Amino acid sequence: MASTVTPPLVDLLREIRRSLVYLKSIGCTGFDCSAEGVAMVAQLGVGPVAKPAVTAAPVSATSPETLDQVRADLGECTRCPLCQGRTHIVFGEGDPKARLVFVGEGPGFEEDQSGHPFVGAAGQLLTKIIAAMQLSRETVYIANIVKCRPPGNRNPQPDEIRACMPFLRRQLAAIRPQVICALGKVAAQTLLDTQTSISRLRGDFHAFMDIPLMPTFHPAFLLRNPERKREVWQDVQKIMKRLSRPST
Ligand code: SF4
Repeated sequence: MASTVTPPLVDLLREIRRSLVYLKSIGCTGFDCSAEGVAMVAQLGVGPVAKPAVTAAPVSATSPETLDQVRADLGECTRCPLCQGRTHIVFGEGDPKARLVFVGEGPGFEEDQSGHPFVGAAGQLLTKIIAAMQLSRETVYIANIVKCRPPGNRNPQPDEIRACMPFLRRQLAAIRPQVICALGKVAAQTLLDTQTSISRLRGDFHAFMDIPLMPTFHPAFLLRNPERKREVWQDVQKIMKRLSRPST
């Protein structure tokens, strides 16, 4: 029989599940539904009182979730229409403790086919840029604003970005890089919540989730406009300088 559960209810159930998984990870074994507990909730105006764990592992309440946990929660995502045309979800890859995270717009044909980010012609140029920074793809992390390929490589739509961005946020919270590099207009404008052009945004540090963010041109744009490579080199030199500072 077809499910009658509506999408908002599905989202709510997912949110509840996420919260329960988190509470379990910090040692919560249940909720105090006794008369005293309920009275305390009424008095304080807070949610259910989590019971202290009897044999809780010494896990900090502020322990961030891991990338694996974020990936597991994403599952075979159908949260936006881009799921309909995808071959693979392109979650992102690289060092889970990377000091530098590159964020692009979304998977293209090759990425959709392979499940890996930035593997086409633009990806090869990004690999060269990373090598010129004396880094490697294994020591950085590469992700996108949306994880499924928009049809015909069109820009992702606002509702698709809204559905997917929470997962990128959680990835960045898990990694806590020293610097984010936003590749291209869509990534930069989305992360900085602005309509300012990439030409104006690039070259200066901004911030996303309190992490310094440098916008620069997308490698695909550089393939079409190789004369702009000099500006990207200026931007990545600023990133290298920032990365050379001792981490706090
Ligand atoms: S783009 Fe993101 S939100 Fe949309 S289906 Fe893919 S993983 Fe889910």
